[in-house]
Amino acid sequence: MAPTQEEQQNQAGRHQEVGHKSLLQSDALYQYILETSVYPREPEPMKELRELTAKHPWNIMTTSADEGQFLNMLLKLINAKNTMEIGVYTGYSLLATALALPEDGKILAMDINRDNYELGLPVIQKAGVAHKIDFKEGPALPILDQMIEHGTYHGSFDFIFVDADKDNYLNYHERLIDLVKVGGLIGYDNTLWNGSVVAPPDAPLRKYVRFYRDFVLELNKALAADPRVEICQLPVGDGITLCRRIS
Ligand code: SAM
Ligand code: CA
Repeated sequence: MAPTQEEQQNQAGRHQEVGHKSLLQSDALYQYILETSVYPREPEPMKELRELTAKHPWNIMTTSADEGQFLNMLLKLINAKNTMEIGVYTGYSLLATALALPEDGKILAMDINRDNYELGLPVIQKAGVAHKIDFKEGPALPILDQMIEHGTYHGSFDFIFVDADKDNYLNYHERLIDLVKVGGLIGYDNTLWNGSVVAPPDAPLRKYVRFYRDFVLELNKALAADPRVEICQLPVGDGITLCRRIS
C-alpha cells in the first residue's frame, strides 16, 4: 500500500540513515575525540581535577572532558562575565567556567553538598581562579527565590549552567528566565538522559534513570514550546540544551 501523505511527511523529518542512532557511531569514535582534540588541550588543573574526581565513588556525575572543553569555549565566545552554576559536585564544569572568565568574572555556584566542592577546591585555588567563585551551600530553589525577591538580580547573568536535580529543572527555568539577561544563555545538562528519552516503556533502565526520565521528557517539550527562548540541543556529553533568552 502506498504511504499516506502524513506518513511521507513523517518520513521526511527523520534521519535518513537507517541504524544511525546518534552522531557518534561508536565508543571508539568518542575515544578518538577525547584523545585527539580534548586531552592534549586540556588545561593542567582540569586534568588534575578530572583524575582526582575519578577516584571518588560518585564520579559518574562529573562533567565529561569534551563537554568541559565546549563550555570553556562557549563562555569565551559570548564574553561571559557574570555566571551561575547549579550543581557543582567536585567542580569540573566550575573550573572550566572559571578558567574562561576574565579576572573580574564571577560565578555564583550552588550545591547541597559542600564536601565534594571542597575536595576539588585546592586544585581550583592552585589554578588561581577561586576568587571568581561565590559558593553557596544549600538547595538552589530558595536561593533563586530570594534573589528574585531582592530585585537587583533581574536580567543580570550572562550564562547559567544547570546540572543538578532534574525533577526541578522546570522550576529552575521559571526563575532563571528572570535572572538571565536578554541575549544571555541558560544551559540545561543531561537532556538526553542516558539515551533513555527514546527508550521503549519496558526498557531495562537503572532505577534513577527511570525515575528522572519523565522530568527530562517534560523539560524538553516545555523548552521546545517556550517562546521566551531560542533553543539548541547538542549531543555533547549526555546532551546539553542551550536556551538563549529573547524576551
Ligand atoms: N557540574 C558538576 C561537575 O562538573 O562535576 C556535576 C554536578 S552533579 C551531576 C549534580 C550535583 O547537584 C550534585 O553535586 C548534587 O549535590 C547537586 N544537587 C542536587 N540537588 C540539588 C539542589 N536541590 N540544589 C543544589 N544542588 C543540588
Ligand atoms: Ca551533568
